[in-house]
Amino acid sequence: MPDLQIHQFSCLSDNFGVLIHDPGSGMTASIDAPEEAAVERALQETGWSLSHILVTHYHGDHTQGIAGLKQTHGATVIGPVGEADKIPTLDQTVSDGDSFQFGGFKVDVIATPGHTLGQVNFHLPEAAVAFTGDTLFALGCGRVFEGSHAMMWQSLDTLRSRLPDETAIYCGHEYTLANGRFALTVDPDNVALQARMTEIEALREAGKPTLPTTMAKERATNPFLRPEDPAIQAILGMTGAAPEAVFSEIRRRKDSI
Ligand SMILES: [Zn+2]
Repeated sequence: MPDLQIHQFSCLSDNFGVLIHDPGSGMTASIDAPEEAAVERALQETGWSLSHILVTHYHGDHTQGIAGLKQTHGATVIGPVGEADKIPTLDQTVSDGDSFQFGGFKVDVIATPGHTLGQVNFHLPEAAVAFTGDTLFALGCGRVFEGSHAMMWQSLDTLRSRLPDETAIYCGHEYTLANGRFALTVDPDNVALQARMTEIEALREAGKPTLPTTMAKERATNPFLRPEDPAIQAILGMTGAAPEAVFSEIRRRKDSI
């Protein structure tokens, strides 16, 4: 099977757009559609023709390009059943545990409520890649706008248990530098985190994206996936506390800076 091809690009102020292309079938999907013009430019650059749009959640900075792209390309729009009322352009709804084919690749749907109640993430196990929307960020996680902290922790724990180490993670935003600076406040002695921050600062200074990341990197350095870590628990004064409670305290601290 030919490899899945992936083209990531920046758009809006700090969003990422991503196109995925299956050379075997010729299919191309846009992961969310933050900005119509930016997705069109990416299609021109790659020479791919848009067949699908996979939607993680209804927020405008992930969906505002859908209507125009659908009209121009006739793309099939697939997104979360729980947000179908907020995404009128959906052709096909999916929910947790669903799988569908994107050309030669299986796409597993993982519900990750918390940032929004209906959010879904897409995992292509054969390509070792996942699109985590505004749930899991590099060194961070999405703000919990609609669900509870317990719900968001459950979603992250699900990703942590479902996605193998080698999985490349693409997410919705370039927040990594600010996330990393915060991560160092709760996990200052983590040598892997320190080394990663040096890399991230260099990438940003060169104007380059810090994504994709991998599950291995996130397991080692993302404090929101590490609430069991004794050093983090000690810094928070929560030694022995339940992971969900530690996660909630980390999220609360991040929200208050
Ligand atoms: Zn969002």
